[in-house]
Amino acid sequence: AKESPEALLAFAKEQGLVELDLRFTDIRGIVQHFSMPLSMVDADSFEEGFGFDGSSVRGFQTINVSDMILFPDLSTAIVDPFFSLPTLAIKCDVSDPISREPYANDPRGIARRAEEYLLSTGIGDVAYFGPEAEFFLFTNVSYETGPNKSYYEVDSHEASWNTASKDPAMNYLNRVKEGYFPLPPLDKTQDVRSDMVQTLMGAGIDIEVHHHEVGGAGQAEIDMRFDSLLRMCDKVLDYKYIVKNVAAKYGLIATFMPKPLFGDNGSGMHVHQSIWKDGKPLFGGDKYAGLSDMALWYIGGVLKHAQALLALTNPTTNSYRRLVPGYEAPVNLVYSARNRSAAIRIPMYSSSPKAKRVETRFPDPTANPYLALPALLMAGIDGIKNQIDPGNPFEIDLYESEDVETPTTPPTLGGALQALAEDHDFLLEGGVFTKEYLEMYIDYKQTQEADQVAMRPHPYEFNMYFDF
Ligand code: GLU
Ligand code: MG
Ligand code: MG
Repeated sequence: AKESPEALLAFAKEQGLVELDLRFTDIRGIVQHFSMPLSMVDADSFEEGFGFDGSSVRGFQTINVSDMILFPDLSTAIVDPFFSLPTLAIKCDVSDPISREPYANDPRGIARRAEEYLLSTGIGDVAYFGPEAEFFLFTNVSYETGPNKSYYEVDSHEASWNTASKDPAMNYLNRVKEGYFPLPPLDKTQDVRSDMVQTLMGAGIDIEVHHHEVGGAGQAEIDMRFDSLLRMCDKVLDYKYIVKNVAAKYGLIATFMPKPLFGDNGSGMHVHQSIWKDGKPLFGGDKYAGLSDMALWYIGGVLKHAQALLALTNPTTNSYRRLVPGYEAPVNLVYSARNRSAAIRIPMYSSSPKAKRVETRFPDPTANPYLALPALLMAGIDGIKNQIDPGNPFEIDLYESEDVETPTTPPTLGGALQALAEDHDFLLEGGVFTKEYLEMYIDYKQTQEADQVAMRPHPYEFNMYFDF
């Protein structure tokens, strides 16, 4: 009922909402926003667009061409669950004020264009995505030292957030890698997770399941029901927003950092993917693990371009501390049914063609969803168009097999950025990504993040070298 500005404003009035909050993201996927009294807004405002200064937004305009406008996407409107004053919050597309055309550096536009590109290929009419963003809950985190003063040491028992609890019953020791998944009092996050789930459902995000994750020190997972690409990108941002703010209500800090603790599992964002056409699933078939040829080629494309994809799906220096053997995160760029040590797993819970999907396991929740999810789809489409053979599946535990020679994830962000610089033509198809945007992205991530970490003495260097 809210397709038109008039209907949306009438709804807002009925609900007693007093403010409008407009949202979009920067290159890193960090949501930016500004607000105004709803009484100052009418239906025309939505046609005219809402102006703002784009020059200080990372990955946007330079100062000499800084004026930009936002066009709210009415289908994304929610009542913000946290603002004290009842507020209508809407995601927006960024446009140029003169041409009124979509702005090429708006990450949300990339997801839109990827959907259009899929349609134009005739391969399918919808791509479904189901990202599983894991996170940790801590009682106390310092920007200088992380969750505990010895975060780079082995013993992360100390970091377990319950050790700071005032309730003695809560002081059961959560062991490293043993968070999956006993009842309370070992699981100390049931209530906060349930509150997150109800808040997510209230914001229109359907949740299938939630549980404590393997990380002993309060790691959690809440799984959203799959949705189409652009909608799912929007939902990932709402998900992170809601998780962080419900945590805050409980005096906790939620972090999506991929590897906050040495020696314990990290947080991934596995991405389940499938393509459908005319209401029919295209990934089910009679090939390996109940897949179709199309699904196998999709896997072939994702594996072929994986090292470049990682620059977008695992975009932080910390991402690469997670991608090491032994923590259910992949290193080997191969696929397999059920195998959680492979980069791509085919879930085998159901044999229905409708449930057939590909789970890519390397992404993590620091990814900007508007860049990462379209990039995965573009790699998959490239695989389908060129019938890229994914090779043989690996059903062995890859962590235990030293003699297996396969391509691997790059060891650093810099390595992934280099791979993206060399392999990105598949992303430019249909104008989905632009070369200029990718160049700016690579430069931004290299100079503002990778170089910044590389130049600084690391705490563990004091442990190793101080007495040399
Ligand atoms: N936390 C693991 C990761 O880093 C994944 C655990 C799981 O299979 O859900 O990807
Ligand atoms: Mg998990
Ligand atoms: Mg998973």
